[in-house]
Amino acid sequence: MVVFKFGGTSVQDTEAMKQVLEIITPHRETGLILVSSAMAGVTNTLIELIHAVKAEDRATAETLLNALEERHTRVLDALTAKARDIASDALKAVFRDMRTLVKGSFLLGDCSPRVSDALLGSGELLSTALLHGLALQAGLSSHLMDARKLLVTDDRFGEAGVLWPETQAKVSAVLTPEPGIVYILQGFIGATVHGVATTLGRGGSDYSASLFGAAVQAQRIEIWTDVNGIMTTDPRKVPTARSIPVMTYAEAAELAFFGAKVVHPATIQPAVERGIPVLVKNTKNPSHPGTIVQAEAPLSGVRAIAGRQGVTLITVTSGRMLMAYGFLKKLFSIFDAFETSVDLVATSEVSVSMTINSCQDLDGLRQALESLGTVRIQPDMAILSLVGKDLWKDGKFLVETFAALQGIPVHLVSMGASEINVSLVLKAGDLD
Ligand code: ADP
Ligand code: ASP
Ligand code: MG
Repeated sequence: MVVFKFGGTSVQDTEAMKQVLEIITPHRETGLILVSSAMAGVTNTLIELIHAVKAEDRATAETLLNALEERHTRVLDALTAKARDIASDALKAVFRDMRTLVKGSFLLGDCSPRVSDALLGSGELLSTALLHGLALQAGLSSHLMDARKLLVTDDRFGEAGVLWPETQAKVSAVLTPEPGIVYILQGFIGATVHGVATTLGRGGSDYSASLFGAAVQAQRIEIWTDVNGIMTTDPRKVPTARSIPVMTYAEAAELAFFGAKVVHPATIQPAVERGIPVLVKNTKNPSHPGTIVQAEAPLSGVRAIAGRQGVTLITVTSGRMLMAYGFLKKLFSIFDAFETSVDLVATSEVSVSMTINSCQDLDGLRQALESLGTVRIQPDMAILSLVGKDLWKDGKFLVETFAALQGIPVHLVSMGASEINVSLVLKAGDLD
């Protein structure tokens, strides 16, 4: 079986959805899993809807719901007869559920994380209902599945963690490879063991595709997006960015983790564990070879550059660190207590600098850290990461890197043990 995942722009309207079917149809003999995101912009609209519900703004909520319904219903025009009835019934059922959730929240004056996750995941239910109708109309043996019945997660709503053994058991029991069969599944959504709907975090459809692929031991996982594969950097920022034909799993994972939005950071892991190649391709330019991500790649040196905004740099300075043991243990146990993950670390004799992405209670964290020493917190920082194999084998690498910075101040350097990444912390304003 091959897994095909299509992002929001790849399913943004009727034309785009028809293009998706053109891409998958020639491969149907292997048995296919088609994983889709919500239509472009829909998840953002759902976030606006949730804000309106929380603000008890009924008029805005109604306007947003109507606009969503109108946009999705428009795709039904491409369908006739039975396919249209099937897709239309599925759409209506999702909108009925959404309106019930919204109405219930207004009545209770409360929009719980459960309710907001159920609303947030609706976009994927809508897009896949339409793709199913179009696939039936095109004569494919399409089966519309409900990812909430297959992908099992914990109950961290909005950023749920996947329960792998449960997920694998369900997926492999239900999705059986058969020539000609096309399973259509939603990305981004799952449910707890009790069946309560959850979402995997923004951009999580790539991760869903990889999980489904791993569970069925797919031959290949294809991520179809709006650029010619993984590129040397974000082409929206640097129009001269080039596509990278082959990358290792480690390089792609590092690039995603440090901000390249083209694949979700969790996507690579399930594929690595089973050695499944991941292909990244452009829906608008299907003849372009894109990028193949696999265990080995021949090239070394800097392959790509990623940037991540929204980084906070924390420095703890203390004379107590000098020649003492146990200091770092105490320090990191504080981050643990605040459920905050540290990305980069650099230590000197008397200070430790660390970056974090987010913290629910930064003031509380600061106070707790002050028990260890003087604390400096610098928000509005960014991480610039250079990713590539064997960066250290080239003695000129660091000289060239710092020369390229042309005097832009660097606040922390991390030359990770992964040997495939050098990360520099800069002021956010210097990143672009
Ligand atoms: P999708 O909706 O298909 O999941 P995303 O918007 O999540 O698409 O990801 C694709 C976008 O990622 C591209 O349009 C591009 O702007 C951005 N991007 C950032 N870094 C890179 C990179 N190194 N290579 C390719 N695209 C990148
Ligand atoms: N629709 C979700 C989002 O916009 C998931 C995804 O597209 O991957 O974040
Ligand atoms: Mg994406």
